[in-house]
Amino acid sequence: MATNLSVRTSYSVVIVGGGAGGVSVAARLKRMSNILDVAVVDPSEFHYYQPAWTLVGGGQFDIAKTRRSMRDCMPAGVEFVPGRVTAFEPEHNAVVLEGGARIGYKFLVVAAGIQLDWDGIEGLIDTLGKNDVTSNYRFDLAPYTWQCIQQFKGGTALFTQPPMPIKCAGAPQKILYLAADYFRKNRIAADIRFMTPGPSMFGVPFYAKALESVMRAYQAKPCFGQKLVRVDGPSKTAYFEVTTDGIKSVQDTKFDMLHVVPPQSAPRFIRESPLADAAGWVEVDKATLRHTRFANIFGIGDCTSTPNSKTAAAVKNQMPVVAKNLMAALTGRGETMTYDGCASCPLTTSAGKVMLAEFCYDGVVTPSFPMDPRSPRKIYWWLKQSFLPYLYWNIVIKGKRWPLTHKRRDFPEALPTINP
Ligand code: FAD
Repeated sequence: MATNLSVRTSYSVVIVGGGAGGVSVAARLKRMSNILDVAVVDPSEFHYYQPAWTLVGGGQFDIAKTRRSMRDCMPAGVEFVPGRVTAFEPEHNAVVLEGGARIGYKFLVVAAGIQLDWDGIEGLIDTLGKNDVTSNYRFDLAPYTWQCIQQFKGGTALFTQPPMPIKCAGAPQKILYLAADYFRKNRIAADIRFMTPGPSMFGVPFYAKALESVMRAYQAKPCFGQKLVRVDGPSKTAYFEVTTDGIKSVQDTKFDMLHVVPPQSAPRFIRESPLADAAGWVEVDKATLRHTRFANIFGIGDCTSTPNSKTAAAVKNQMPVVAKNLMAALTGRGETMTYDGCASCPLTTSAGKVMLAEFCYDGVVTPSFPMDPRSPRKIYWWLKQSFLPYLYWNIVIKGKRWPLTHKRRDFPEALPTINP
C-alpha cells in the first residue's frame, strides 16, 4: 500500500472533517471511551465558528474570535491527520487521501460539511471583496460586509439567496436586517431587496409570515422567483434568472451594495462516491444517522441526506446520537439514540434583537422557551452574541451534552407584535 503518512494507517474510528460535527463527535467518543483510537482528517489549518460571521458582517462581533487553530481544537488523545480525503473505499474500510495514502478504519464518520460553489455565479469570484460585492460565507469577506454597510451612502442594497439546500438558511436575510437597522439608525435612504429563487421568506411557514412582517417594518422588498446568475462588479449590475409562465429570462438590476450567498451542494468527493444518495449527500437514516447501506459508517452535519436545517445547532443535537450509536455498534453494548431533526436559526432582526426560530423534521415548531418564538427579543440577542459562542467552544466541540429543552408547543395563528 502506497503511503506517505508518518502516522498510523488504521484506526478504530476515522472522522472525515474537523469542523463542528467532526471535532464534537471525536470529543464525545473520547469521553465515552478514553482508550478508543480516533483520527480526524482535515486539510484546513483552522477551525471556524461560522455562525458568528453574520454578526461580523453587521459590525457586532470580532472576526478573530471566530477562528482557532485546528490542532488546538483537537480533543486530547485524538490524532489529527492533516490531509484531504479524495475517495471512499467502503468495501476495504478505507479512505484515500490526496497523494494516494490510505487510512483504514473499523468505523467511519463523515463530517465534511457542504461545498460552496462560488463559480456557480458568473463573474462573482472576480468581484468579491471589491465593488461593494461581499459575502458573509467567507472568513476573509465577512469584515468587508461591514465595510460595505458603513460606506453605503444610499441607493439599492441587494441581498441574495441561492436555491436550497444551503447551510443556515436564515443567514441570507439575517444580514439584510442588520444592514437595514444600520441604515434606519443613520437615516440613510435605501431600496432594500431580498432576492430569492424560492417562493417565501423561510421554509417553515410559521416563521415565514413573521419574517414578512419584519421586512415590512424596514420597508424592504421580498423578490421571489429571482435567481442570481451573473455579477458585473465594475458596472454594479446583478443579473437574475426569472421564470414567468414557464419561460426563463434574465433581468438586470443595478446595485450600490450586493451581499451574495453562493449556491451550495454536496461535496464532490462524496457525490462521486458509493456513500452518496441520488442527490450526492451521505445517505444516512434520518433518526439513527447511520449509513443505510454501510453499517460501519455514520454521517453528521451539513454533508448528510437528513432533511433538517443545515446548522451548527443541528450538529449539537446530532453529536450525542452519532457517538452513542457508533459506540453501541462498536462494542455490541449500550443503548442507541435517535435524532428528531431539531435545529435552530437565530434570526438577527436588528442589532439588539433576535427571533429564535427552532423547529424539527417536517417544520414542527419546537421552541426551547414557552414564549411565542416569532417575537424578536433582546434576551435572544444576548444568546446569539454571547452565550452560543461560549456554548460552541466550551461545550459542543468538547463533546459535552447540553440539556435539550425544545418541545412541540402550539401558538395562535395570528402574529404577535413584531417589533424588530
Ligand atoms: P463544517 O463546520 O463546515 O466543517 C466541515 C469540515 O470538513 C471543514 O473543517 C473542512 O475543512 C473539512 N473538509 C472538507 N472537505 C474535506 C475533505 N475532502 N477531507 C477532509 N476534510 C474535509 N449554524 C447555526 O446553528 N446557527 C447560525 O446562526 C448559523 N449561521 C451561519 C452563518 C454563516 C454565514 C455560515 C457560513 C454558517 C452558519 N451556520 C449557522 C451553519 C454552521 O456553521 C454549519 O451548519 C456547521 O458548521 C456545520 O458543521 P459541519 O461539521 O457539518 O461542517
